[in-house]
Amino acid sequence: MGQRYYLEQSPGDDVVEIVLEGQEAQHLIKVMRARVGDAVELFDGSGTQWEAEVQEIRRNEATLRVLTSGFISLEPIVQLTIGVALPKGDRQKWAIGKLVELGVHRVVPLITENGVAQPVEKAIERLRRQVVEASKQCGRNHLMEITEPCALPDFLGQPFMQRWIAHPPTGKGLANVAFVSVGALSAESGSVGVAIGPEGGFSVREITDSIVAGWTPLQLGSRILRIETAAMAVAAQLLLGR
Ligand code: SAM
Repeated sequence: MGQRYYLEQSPGDDVVEIVLEGQEAQHLIKVMRARVGDAVELFDGSGTQWEAEVQEIRRNEATLRVLTSGFISLEPIVQLTIGVALPKGDRQKWAIGKLVELGVHRVVPLITENGVAQPVEKAIERLRRQVVEASKQCGRNHLMEITEPCALPDFLGQPFMQRWIAHPPTGKGLANVAFVSVGALSAESGSVGVAIGPEGGFSVREITDSIVAGWTPLQLGSRILRIETAAMAVAAQLLLGR
């Protein structure tokens, strides 16, 4: 895989030349120090990939000559949406990058009873930039979606074919609830939703409401995982190797 660059606007399928501008041009010119004749890959986040070579480099932009283009999907057949009460700061950025690599389809920042405030629009834009960076690195041609923050009851109402809500084995107030363990977390295809709680965990009411809404409580082992570890473990169990 050559150097990859993201095109915010699709140039169309049968284009012969692409002018790279803005942040991506800066990356090509200043960071990668590309030279005329260098091979590059371009993607627009919707599945199309262009193979090109650098034709001309100017101060703030570069002209690329298109050699081939095609639709190349590396998306898993399971469309996994993770609803997650995101941790703060760098941990959330790191988690987003890893979920892109693992092939998660969509991340929904969850507003929960015990959660901290979820990212505002500006922070979500930064996370979307992280999606682009991770996609450049891992070769993914479709961008993982990050939605606006969503209240847990609304997320629980979304129509997934299979649905799990992760809760550690603390058992408080949930003695009669039947949890499944991680071995039961599998899907052949279709839409799957998994909910991961905040540092303070889901409340008993949130878990019982989720069961009423048709979600299955899930345990990931005897230790309490951090939010991002739980999200990655779930994504790896459902998507690794696909
Ligand atoms: N003190 C919190 C509690 O008891 O729920 C711990 C929350 S944990 C740091 C954050 C989230 O990760 C949890 O709400 C849950 O969704 C998920 N999680 C962490 N460890 C888990 C485990 N062993 N089994 C299932 N879910 C887990």
